[in-house]
Order: sequence, then C-alpha cells, then structure tokens
Amino acid sequence: MTQAQLDVDIAIVGGGHVGGTLAALLAASRCGWRVALIEAGSLWQQAQQTTTDSAAGGDARSTALSFGTVDILRQLQLWHLLESHATPIRTIHVSDRGRFPGTRLSAEDHQVEALGYVIENHTLGRVLAGFLLAQTHITLFDATRVASVTPVAGGMCLQLQQQEKTITLTAALAVVADGGDSPLRRSLGIQVQQQDYAQTAIIANVTFTHPHQGVAWERFTDFGPMALLPLDGARGKRAALIWTLPAADAELWLNAPDADFLTALQQRFGTRAGRFTHVGRRVAFPLQLRIAQEQIRQGLVLVGNAAHFLHPVAGQGLNLAVRDCVMLTEVLKEARERQQSPGDLAVLRHYLQRQQQDQSITIDASDKLVKWFSTRHPLYVTLRHLGFLSLAGVPGLEQYFAARAMGTAGRAPRWQRMAIQEAADATDL
Ligand SMILES: Cc1cc2nc3c(=O)[nH]c(=O)nc-3n(C[C@H](O)[C@H](O)[C@H](O)COP(=O)(O)OP(=O)(O)OC[C@H]3O[C@@H](n4cnc5c(N)ncnc54)[C@H](O)[C@@H]3O)c2cc1C
Repeated sequence: MTQAQLDVDIAIVGGGHVGGTLAALLAASRCGWRVALIEAGSLWQQAQQTTTDSAAGGDARSTALSFGTVDILRQLQLWHLLESHATPIRTIHVSDRGRFPGTRLSAEDHQVEALGYVIENHTLGRVLAGFLLAQTHITLFDATRVASVTPVAGGMCLQLQQQEKTITLTAALAVVADGGDSPLRRSLGIQVQQQDYAQTAIIANVTFTHPHQGVAWERFTDFGPMALLPLDGARGKRAALIWTLPAADAELWLNAPDADFLTALQQRFGTRAGRFTHVGRRVAFPLQLRIAQEQIRQGLVLVGNAAHFLHPVAGQGLNLAVRDCVMLTEVLKEARERQQSPGDLAVLRHYLQRQQQDQSITIDASDKLVKWFSTRHPLYVTLRHLGFLSLAGVPGLEQYFAARAMGTAGRAPRWQRMAIQEAADATDL
C-alpha cells in the first residue's frame, strides 16, 4: 500500500450531478482556488457511456431542467452538447384524478420557447463527466472514495482510498456532495430532519401510441402523484414515468409482468397520452423529505441531496441544488477577492443567508404539494372532496407550476452577476 499527502483549498466529495456542477462552476469562474473533486465511481467510464434505458445498470431516470439550470449549462458551454438530447416541455398538463378537469400551462402563454427541458440522467452525467475530465483547473480523483473527513486546524483532513493507495488530503473547505444517504454527514454527527412520505417512486421509461408533442403530465391521485416527462423530442412517443405509490404497493408493481403494469398504469392515467405499449426497466426510490440540520460548519458545507433530499413531485431537487452551487461559487469568488479562507464560517454563513429563502420556499412548496394533493390524510381528502383544495382553487398554484418549471420563482437569479469566463477553452470535448 502506498501513501501520499496533498493540500488544496476546496475539496468536493462526490462527482454526481451536484458535486460535478459545483466543480464545473468553480473551474469556469476562474476563482483562483485550488479545487479537488473526488468521485467514488468512475467519471472516465461515465464519459464513455452511451447507456440507454434498456441497458442494465445505467441510471434510467430523467430530470426536468428549469430555465435557470439550462441557463447555467449554457454559460458553462455545455448546453450545445445537451440540447439535441433534451426535449423541450411545451405544455404542462396538471390534473387531480377524479376531481378536476385539469390545467394546461403552455410555453406560448408564458411567451417562452419551452417551460423547461427533459434530459436523461445518463446523458447529463456523460456530458458533465467529459467536461470535468477536460479541466486543467481541477485536481480530479476518479474512482477514489473518501473514507473520512476530520476537522483539523485550518480546515479539514480527508482520507482518500484509491485502490491500494491511501491519500491524505487537507483542504480549507470540504464540500460534502455524497448524496442523500451521505455516510460522511452521518460520520460528522450531523442530524437530519426526516419525514417519511410512506411513498415510493417507481421510475421507468414508457412508450405510447401517440407523439407526446412536448406535453409533460402531472397527475395527482389519492395514492400519490404520477408524472410523465416527454423524451425524444416533440415527435417522440417515449416518456419518463415517475409513479408514486404507497410504499406497501411498490414491490408488487416493481415486479409485476409488463402487461399488468401497463394495464394498471393505463387505468390510473387514463388515455390522455394514448395507449401505453412498452415499459422499460423499473427502479424504485423510497421517498422522504430529509433536511440536514446543519449545512455549514467551519471548513465544511453540505450540498445537493446531502443537504436536502426532496420529493421529486415538483422536479426541484437538482434545480435547487444548482442554484445553491451558483450562490456558493459566487460567495467563494468574493471570499477570494477579499482574501478570506473559503472555509471561514463567516463566508459560509453568508452563502447560507443568501440561499436560505430559496431553499425554504422550494422545500416547503414541494412538501405542501405532496401533502395536499397526494395523500389519503382524512383532512386533505375532505378538503379536496369539498373543493376547498383544488389546483384551480389554491391561489397562485398554477403560476407556481409555470414559474418553478421555468426557474423563475423565488428570488431573481443572480448568476448573471457571476463572471464565468472562457469556459469554452476548457470544454474541448
Ligand atoms: C425519481 C426522482 C426524480 C427526480 N427528478 C428530478 C427532476 O425532474 N428535476 C430535478 O431538479 N431533480 C429531480 N430529482 C432530484 C435529483 O435527482 C437530485 O437532486 C440529484 O440527483 C442529487 O444529486 P447529488 O449529486 O446530490 O447526489 P447523487 O446523485 O447521489 O451523487 C452523489 C455522488 O457522490 C459519490 N460518492 C458518494 N460517497 C462518496 C465518497 N465517500 N467518496 C467519493 N464519492 C462519493 C457517488 O458515487 C455519487 O456520484 C429527482 C430525484 C428522484 C429520486
């Protein structure tokens, strides 16, 4: 076993969509900090990956990207690599099963070219990994696991495991982006406020008879929300299904024969999207709201799912995390200009203060959406039956869907203020 010792200013643990985006933003902003990114999986393999839904092992999920997130990807010079794989959402159709005829939000009405874009996770991962591998401003530890993060004078000490090699990395700031379970958060003794929705999301790509024409469907039922996000462009006949079920029923539908699954889906969804003809590999995600009770400490910040893990109903987990990353980059860039340490608690407090309102609004809104429209809680069921709680009846809810999809809700985006310089020269993919 060999050993090595290194020192950086900022060490990002986890090169998923969030840790990867933060690393890309820091590199592109030329903030001058020495940045390391440590990823347990292989970014190199991800960059080669052309996995589709039917291939075993790949992430079959898709993500609805808000306008704001697309804008960031554009500034990073990544959007042109993603755009041809992304499907514009031209219309969002929201309905409440059995109660309400439905609401249509259209890009036309909001005078935008799309309300958001859907991208398959493996495509986003591939492009992001390619970008990160091409960076010269980041020290990349690929296929390397962070075994521990320990506070030391002036920052954090990270023990890295890379095959037979152990690396000791010291950093003024450790950014923990190791996902929703976050073993590092646990090892640091950071408590989590947890709410179990007793729901599981079954994810699969489904094919139907008619072209979806860029329509995203959001359907609320007593048992949980269902969403269909359009794939393969406006003429596509494939969509990403997120079917939220009571946790107790999930196993049944996860393993049911395809024909039974499609019949059940058709019954619950109706024929508005045509007839379902095929379902791809199904994967289950138990759903909880998990909020870290501390997002910052001296020399430490949590981002992405490690900081807040939301119900996917409003499609906001990644979009919120990207806004967090933009704000963090902005604050760290300012700290550099003021010659403050990136791990200084005052710097990190500044980040949280600026981002707190956006976080609370987004988290609260997705939580309410789940509780009001997709549980069998007697109070909410009664209110819905009496018509007090309907999509049309809750003031601002329609606007919420549109604004959230477009990324224009909450505070005005500030990323325009951030100088992302010449990202293109480092994006020679
Ligand atoms: C069903 C579903 C649908 C969703 N749809 C949407 C949507 O439409 N829009 C949206 O905005 N959001 C959506 N989300 C949320 C979004 O997927 C998450 O917010 C996002 O994936 C979080 O990414 P992350 O990088 O924080 O975590 P992860 O994706 O879990 O990445 C963590 C990374 O850290 C690495 N890692 C872990 N431990 C270590 C270690 N010790 N050392 C080194 N590396 C480590 C892992 O290998 C991994 O690459 C959805 C979520 C679900 C479950």
